[in-house]
Amino acid sequence: MRINTIDLNFFTPKAVACYLVEAGSGPILIETGPDTTFPNLKGAIEGLGYDLRDIRGVFVTHIHLDHAGAAWHFASMGIRIYVHPFGAPHIVDPTRLLASARRIYKDQMELLWGRVEAISGEYVYAIKDGERVRVGGIEVEAVETLGHASHHHAYLIENSMFVGDIGGIRIEGGPVLPPTPPPDVHIERWLESLRKIRKRRPEVIFLSHFGRYEDVFKHLDELERRLVEYSEWVGKKVEEGKEDEEIIPEFVGMCHRVLEEAGVDPSTVKAYEYADPFWMNVLGLTRYWKKFRLQL
Ligand SMILES: [Zn+2]
Repeated sequence: MRINTIDLNFFTPKAVACYLVEAGSGPILIETGPDTTFPNLKGAIEGLGYDLRDIRGVFVTHIHLDHAGAAWHFASMGIRIYVHPFGAPHIVDPTRLLASARRIYKDQMELLWGRVEAISGEYVYAIKDGERVRVGGIEVEAVETLGHASHHHAYLIENSMFVGDIGGIRIEGGPVLPPTPPPDVHIERWLESLRKIRKRRPEVIFLSHFGRYEDVFKHLDELERRLVEYSEWVGKKVEEGKEDEEIIPEFVGMCHRVLEEAGVDPSTVKAYEYADPFWMNVLGLTRYWKKFRLQL
């Protein structure tokens, strides 16, 4: 088996990845990235010696547009899309998905995400937690991992786990940051997912933002620590009655300090920001605190 990392070059290198996995009888794709980088994806697949139509199946960890925004291109070629059962209806009819994204990205929608078309249900396979499928000679197991989204899977192939966003953001070996966008972030569910990943003892994890890491347990510990720390930090501000607009600049400053102190170079900082806009993380965490912790 061979795992190829494809850099989709989402406005900057090393922000958004997808993975082409080959095992002899036609490759599979993990994540598609957004529609806006579809030409880059096509070029990369061709560069690896394949035509788009050679792809035997597409697995998306969740339906956020930076992960599955280009899935409709593959479905329109008759290629099956594997997705969490709660995500499946929203790629068949993306109305609610797009409305939710527009609330966050407003007039930046088109620029960031391009076009998103409905996918015919016949090309969507809702893969359940613990289910194993064999595609292109590759056995893929879905591991439901909620907390970042309410419809997220990690995919286990042999000893490699593709952890989507539940495994955090880490670029060029820098600090591990938790991506916490609205509307589904739930800290306890996320911690449960991290326990689930640890239990499977993957030897290698592949992040969608960005790349391959072998120090799995150290990585997950750092993610857990920061997830709890950031959540508690935002929770305190919410309790003090602060509004998002007041919290955002302080939070963004804190994220930048973490990267700076770790010696992350400016171009990598830019990749972190494209992978996981820090201001957006505040919106997810304040929503979580208001809805689940303080019941405001
Ligand atoms: Zn993402």
